[in-house]
Amino acid sequence: MIAQIIIDIPAQQTNRAFDYAVPPELTTIIAPGMRVLVPFGRSRKKQRQGFVWRLAEKSSFKGRLKPISEVLDLTPVLNEEMLALAEWLAQDTFSFLISCLQTMLPNALRASYQRRFQLQKPLAAGSLLTPLLDSQTTGKIPEQISAPLLRALKTAEQTGQIKIDQQVAQKGQIKEVALYSSNLTMAQATEMAQTTRANAHQQLALLTFLQQHPQFSGTSEQWREALPELKQTTLTTAVKKAWLQRRQIEQYRQPNPLPTPKAALPLTGEQAAAYHAVAQAMTVAQREVFLLEGITGSGKTEVYLAAMADALRQGKTALMLVPEIALTPQMVQRVQERFQKDVAVLHSGLSVGERFDEWRRIERGEARVVVGARSAAFAPLKNIGVMIIDEEHESSYKQDDMPRYHARDVVLHRATTHHCPVILGSATPSLESRARAQKNVYHLLRLTQRPKSAQLPEVKVLDMRSVGKVDGKPSFSQELIDALAQRLKQHEQSILLLNRRGYANFVLCRDCGNVIKCPNCDISLTLHRDIQALKCHYCGHQEAIPQVCPVCHSSQIRDFGAGTQRIEAELAAILPQARILRMDVDTTARKGGHQRLIKKFGRQEADILLGTQMIAKGLDFPNVTLVGVINADTSLSLPDFRASEKTFQLLTQVSGRAGRAEKQGQVLIQTYNPDNYAIQLASHQDYEAFYQREMHLRHVGGYPPYYYTILVSVNHRQEDLAAQKIYQLYRQVSPVLSKSAVLLGPTPRMIARINNQYYYQFIIKYKHEEKLFTTLQRLVLEMQQESGFQLRIDREPLQIS
Ligand code: ADP
Ligand code: ZN
Ligand code: ZN
Repeated sequence: MIAQIIIDIPAQQTNRAFDYAVPPELTTIIAPGMRVLVPFGRSRKKQRQGFVWRLAEKSSFKGRLKPISEVLDLTPVLNEEMLALAEWLAQDTFSFLISCLQTMLPNALRASYQRRFQLQKPLAAGSLLTPLLDSQTTGKIPEQISAPLLRALKTAEQTGQIKIDQQVAQKGQIKEVALYSSNLTMAQATEMAQTTRANAHQQLALLTFLQQHPQFSGTSEQWREALPELKQTTLTTAVKKAWLQRRQIEQYRQPNPLPTPKAALPLTGEQAAAYHAVAQAMTVAQREVFLLEGITGSGKTEVYLAAMADALRQGKTALMLVPEIALTPQMVQRVQERFQKDVAVLHSGLSVGERFDEWRRIERGEARVVVGARSAAFAPLKNIGVMIIDEEHESSYKQDDMPRYHARDVVLHRATTHHCPVILGSATPSLESRARAQKNVYHLLRLTQRPKSAQLPEVKVLDMRSVGKVDGKPSFSQELIDALAQRLKQHEQSILLLNRRGYANFVLCRDCGNVIKCPNCDISLTLHRDIQALKCHYCGHQEAIPQVCPVCHSSQIRDFGAGTQRIEAELAAILPQARILRMDVDTTARKGGHQRLIKKFGRQEADILLGTQMIAKGLDFPNVTLVGVINADTSLSLPDFRASEKTFQLLTQVSGRAGRAEKQGQVLIQTYNPDNYAIQLASHQDYEAFYQREMHLRHVGGYPPYYYTILVSVNHRQEDLAAQKIYQLYRQVSPVLSKSAVLLGPTPRMIARINNQYYYQFIIKYKHEEKLFTTLQRLVLEMQQESGFQLRIDREPLQIS
């Protein structure tokens, strides 16, 4: 028997299965999806981890096959569905198979390599290697090595004093705890108590307890709950005396205590209609995609929960994706309130061990509901009844590294396998999804009302060119400050958004609001300080930074931006009595940072929550009656055809944080572009009108969803080589395209140099292309011969810059 193994080296040369002999003692154990250790490369010693891809009778390889050294799993860590999914994903995203396999597994199951040395002769006194020894004869070589240590290692190896080898280190650790259970009957415990010294108080207390609870068994923590005075040494002594029996049991790490259970709310008419449509598809086990378009606060979550409950009732499982768990702790809480310990939570905020435990609970079928961020799309659930993507328009669902997958595509693909419905939910669906609903590829469901008496907030757009501003603090209009002061008086809370996307990247006239744009494209130019110029990232146009505004000739033209810290300080000076919570990358860097701030705000220990994009979604606080947007414009001027869409989504989402309960909410949007359609329509929460308008512009401009896009990018240390290569690729791709396809570029990338690598790219816009994919696949494979180049092919890139 032979096994085809995918080696864990993500590179073109190793992007195929390698044949290995299966030793006779492993033939009954080994199965596809298991991890193995195999010798790889010239040295026999060098062990690599790999995945069993397939088993076969014979190999087409002519030479002698090396045998598999070790099998690392008792059962496969990737089942048949996952292996097939990986194969599809690798093709769909132009990725290495191994990258796809690894993406599907928790970190704990990915290999890490440890270099060790073995002493052949004793070390001289004072050798630099002595501190590295962890036994008499072996030592661990740290990942980061100082130059003197490296020299010492090399010399010792050359003189035959040590041997160096590389080992696979297992990160996956099952947490175990000791369980102590009574060995004594009631009578025996009484007897022991009589023969124990009277001053051994602890032991006597334990025996007394055992007389009353002869069946008791628990971890040392549980023993201490029962007997608060008990010391660990007493438990150890009791084991020695055979009063107690000690054994190791597996324990899951429990990241957070579960919230108190909450029952389902009676659904409103609209909610019930949406739920029934999904439930119907689930009953007949049909893959159908529903786009749940519901205004902010319309109760989309209740529909999700109802659908998930239905899946569980039918003995199936459910998957729910949310953009970033750290930003939406309330969502996780609501799912846990409903489904309690049936829920597994997967996100990057967990420790490696916690994540591994959650993964195992899913894999074993102990957790039947999964909530998680992007990579939870690969949760090893079986028999899925429904899959949900909340805030489906969010860009965090797309991964930026290989494999460059979109979680939505993964979910839609898995739905085919599981024959189950999918709910894509949003108040502001992506144009791509909404267009599919328009064509009846997806089934559109709408929620147009907030439940109970809650009303949409009143929104006012403040024209920053003309409104009165606070003296010396031009970031604040007087009206916004007055509104904040009034909330302080009424003991109500406010949320202030500082829109930092595209921060300080573009040039704006403070007098007329003009943003400098490219003459060839409908896109703003980006300021490059290093070369003191404005550049277009679509067509390559470049111009000098103007001294005066080309429209109104004012000299008040400059790059735009203001940091959260500065805004906080200014606000504190204007409203000294306000308690302000600042939420940005700096204040949330530590683990659980978001959650701490959000909880604090929820306990009403602050009046104003000031933050970047991260405060815009998911928050549901009944006492928030005012939302202010300090600068609506920044994201409008991104060098990106999705700038308006992103601005509309952001403003709609953040406005939706106000007035979610009985109290009426108000929203104030400060802008230099009050007439811009994205700002106007967001202020009316009019998604439909925005959709129509934006689709028209996309049609005229030839952008998605009217076209598909693929970004081809190449980088190299030497700029001229990167440029030459991109033209060479361009010449290979352009002949296979039909007339309806459009090629943009080649151009240097927005940030042309990162880590001393130069990036060049072109973009393919297309509708149907027969030969394009095979051509691109071939490019990926051909690149292997040439060193120093990295090729990146990104389907539907979220940023074309
Ligand atoms: P969305 O996810 O659409 O923004 P939520 O699901 O957060 O909206 O619901 C907004 C608020 O309305 C929440 O406080 C929720 O508890 C409440 N709510 C939702 N559905 C109902 C219902 N059927 N009856 C009463 N209150 C509801
Ligand atoms: Zn101007
Ligand atoms: Zn241009």
